[in-house]
Amino acid sequence: MPIQKTAAVVLNTYPYSDGSLVAHLLTRRFGRMSVLAKGARRPKSRLYTQLDRLYVVDVVLYMKPDRAMQTLSDAALEAHHPELRTSLVRFYTAQYASELVAAGTTEGHPNPKLFDRFVAGLSECARLPIPRLPLWVLHFEAACLAALGLSPALDRCIACKRPNPYRGAATFSVAAGGLLCRSCQAEGSVPRPMVELSAAALRAWRTLSCSPGTPEAEALLAEDELPRGALLELRRVLDRFLPYHLERGLRLAKYLPTPK
Ligand SMILES: [Zn+2]
Repeated sequence: MPIQKTAAVVLNTYPYSDGSLVAHLLTRRFGRMSVLAKGARRPKSRLYTQLDRLYVVDVVLYMKPDRAMQTLSDAALEAHHPELRTSLVRFYTAQYASELVAAGTTEGHPNPKLFDRFVAGLSECARLPIPRLPLWVLHFEAACLAALGLSPALDRCIACKRPNPYRGAATFSVAAGGLLCRSCQAEGSVPRPMVELSAAALRAWRTLSCSPGTPEAEALLAEDELPRGALLELRRVLDRFLPYHLERGLRLAKYLPTPK
């Protein structure tokens, strides 16, 4: 069928010749894709106000298998979250979320779970008080890792599977994606890099890995209970863990707000 419909988030747009636009989309049904929106930069086009960064849209695509870029024939705005554009911190945080999901998705390989989390995450990022955003990012990253099948093993040794190998500070293998008990560490069979995780940071990471959208997650985002030091430590660990497993650096990570 050449005509296909799907929900999408606009990741970016680029002007194209003759008043047209190329939109880089994350779609629910087809993964990441670039589409040509003919005439979309002309004020009389019905697409004129429908396509901008971080807009959530329902799109109609004219698909041909042998074409490098598909054609967007219609788009209806579902949500555009104007709050995201009222603060630079909020906008950069949402843009970082966008960069993260784009890095985790490839063209032609949809991940509906990741897509749904991104759409819900944009609403959360738009409505939460700004001081809560550093915590929200860590929670969002944990959910993205789960959707990508990359959740770290935080309750057992990644090598020998022994449960809860630490009472206090722990060794975490960035490469293997989990805790590493002292004896497996001494054996040296698990590849580096490794980092030390304080007991508080490990507890915070487990707490932040709760299912998003649940009453537990809402309470976590509403209250100010996790220690700042643990969140700062976790930020540093994720800034190593994510690029390692996504196999690319995240350009906007340096603009993320610091936990306060
Ligand atoms: Zn072990």
